[in-house]
Amino acid sequence: MVVKLWSADLTGIQAQPVTVEVDLSNGLSSFSIVGMPDTAIKESRDRIRAAIKNSGFKFPGRRITVNLAPADLKKESSRIDIPIALGIVVSSAKRILPTAALKNKMFVGELSLDGSVRPVTGILSISISAASKELTLFVPEPNYCEARAVKTGTVIPYRSLNHLITILKGMEDTTVPDCPEPEAQGSFPVTLEEIKGQAHAKRALILAAAGNHNLLMYGPPGAGKSMMAKALPSILPSMSNQEEIETTMIHSAGGILKEKSIVRVRPYRAPHYTISHIGLIGGGTRLNPGEVSYAHNGVLFLDEFPEFPRRTLEVLRQPMEDGLVRISRASGTVEFPSRFMLIAAMNPCPCGYFGSKVRECHCTPTRISSYRSRISGPILDRIDLLINVPQIPLEQMVAGNTGLTSRDARELVENARQIQLHRNHGANAWINESQLKEICRMEPDAETLLLTASRKMSLSSRSFNRVLKVARTIADLEQLETIQAPHIAEALQYKISDFFESGITYD
Ligand SMILES: [Zn+2]
Repeated sequence: MVVKLWSADLTGIQAQPVTVEVDLSNGLSSFSIVGMPDTAIKESRDRIRAAIKNSGFKFPGRRITVNLAPADLKKESSRIDIPIALGIVVSSAKRILPTAALKNKMFVGELSLDGSVRPVTGILSISISAASKELTLFVPEPNYCEARAVKTGTVIPYRSLNHLITILKGMEDTTVPDCPEPEAQGSFPVTLEEIKGQAHAKRALILAAAGNHNLLMYGPPGAGKSMMAKALPSILPSMSNQEEIETTMIHSAGGILKEKSIVRVRPYRAPHYTISHIGLIGGGTRLNPGEVSYAHNGVLFLDEFPEFPRRTLEVLRQPMEDGLVRISRASGTVEFPSRFMLIAAMNPCPCGYFGSKVRECHCTPTRISSYRSRISGPILDRIDLLINVPQIPLEQMVAGNTGLTSRDARELVENARQIQLHRNHGANAWINESQLKEICRMEPDAETLLLTASRKMSLSSRSFNRVLKVARTIADLEQLETIQAPHIAEALQYKISDFFESGITYD
């Protein structure tokens, strides 16, 4: 007789239900697994064999065939160890556990050689999948709190193969671990009020946060560009429940969730420029998400932007365009969501002091333009806000105005974002061209100003659209329905062309 159990594996961040069929027949002793790549089979067989013996059961000296379906899904993970082991134990000795005890249940867990169970990644997706199929999910104890983050469905934690069997026999009441309180908003590494002066940069930061606009800051070393970026999380709008689940699924699939059961605070990822292509975009043998996906619904901060290898920067184009990353492999294409806000920072020239009043720059015009041209046009096309962050004089650093507090700025941002969610079901940065005219309505004088400016400055149609989206966000911060001339005038200040297109002629 064949014993059937439910389990699950991941494709990207999505859980795929898997059925595990175990068949024991007479014949030469053998153990084969169908539906798993060869490399994974050997390791899995060794773990399962040792774990069954070390849990005090007899490993059947018969012909064991395990079939994992669907066959086209390559099950490379160790999540399916437990259902295979359980299937073998149950089919070899019915007195241990009746097969009926396996009904309407889903099992995941990686076995240790001693029969204890190890936590696995991707539990949140698996838990969603189990709940939708109305299956009770059995998870390794350390995975319990993450699995419970889905409010529907029943989740039961266990510690080992033996413990699992005891629970299934109904011989033990399950005790569930205490789950930590979800992380709260409130403590941030840097707040706006800690930064003196820099009113222009702070304003741009608020716009970025309100409309999810990509922002590029340039200025000399020590001007406070990274400090600005670090202050950003303190003014970001809170996440919706859907955003929390999406981001948690990605962090869970990549195994970076740690003790958190759910991500409640927008992620802030700041990889160094030495990061590999795979580290940034995702992939590798275990097919992990990359930094662009870990930053989903949050911030990706790239400091020293031109120092990232050109090839690495170019791969940002797709996620910036589509909000997701596609990774192709022999076994098929996998997609990871990657809607992040890019915050980039760079020096104005290789030495860092071009245009500085503090120190002289010795870079040649050729070196300066070759440095700036490391950021390609298609990447610049996706950046809505460009700002100069100058070195501020000492007296301002001591006595300068601090402007809005993070708390006040966040309230403005939150209100502006709510308007956007009601009107365009997303942040302004993601308005597509077909919606642009409808959403970004202008007063007649605003329209005249934008048309005149775009002729004078010979704005490309992309720049034109960017200015319009930023102006929309400025109007949203003032809770106004139509865009007015001052909003256009301000948005024009952040356009990208001066610094990159006309080379080195700014202030
Ligand atoms: Zn220089």
